[in-house]
Amino acid sequence: MAYDPNNIFAKIVRGEAPCFKVYEDDRTLAFMDIMPQAEGHTLIIPKEGAESIFDLSPEGAAALIKTTKKIAVAVKEVTKAPGVMLAQLNGTAAGQTVFHIHFHVIPRTGGIDLKLHAREQADFEKLKALAAKISAAIK
Ligand code: AMP
Repeated sequence: MAYDPNNIFAKIVRGEAPCFKVYEDDRTLAFMDIMPQAEGHTLIIPKEGAESIFDLSPEGAAALIKTTKKIAVAVKEVTKAPGVMLAQLNGTAAGQTVFHIHFHVIPRTGGIDLKLHAREQADFEKLKALAAKISAAIK
């Protein structure tokens, strides 16, 4: 499948769609997942238009994991979760639903603590407040 420049994350990168922004640099952007699987669920994307790991440049991959690490540390600090899961899905068969590569940073508390994937929209005021807290915790 060819990269679709009108996917929702491409629109967020171009400022054509809103997001609860947590972090941005010249290569990457991080924002709150609006249908979080746990409180603090954050997404990290490259600004480069790549659908999945298979068409992402090595430079984009390096920047993406560097930002993901930064965000994981901040999310753990803010949510005080004992564990943090990273997830990155490539292709419909793997469960990918937005075709612009992204890492999920999901706080975990143990056991079956996750909501279903991309199902229930969170309260936007809560997401806004969390984004500000995570952003402030980035080192
Ligand atoms: P994946 O299935 O790995 O492609 O994950 C896509 C994720 O994007 C899901 O967790 C959705 O909840 C999330 N999502 C979809 N649209 C938006 C949006 N406009 N802003 C933030 N997160 C979104």
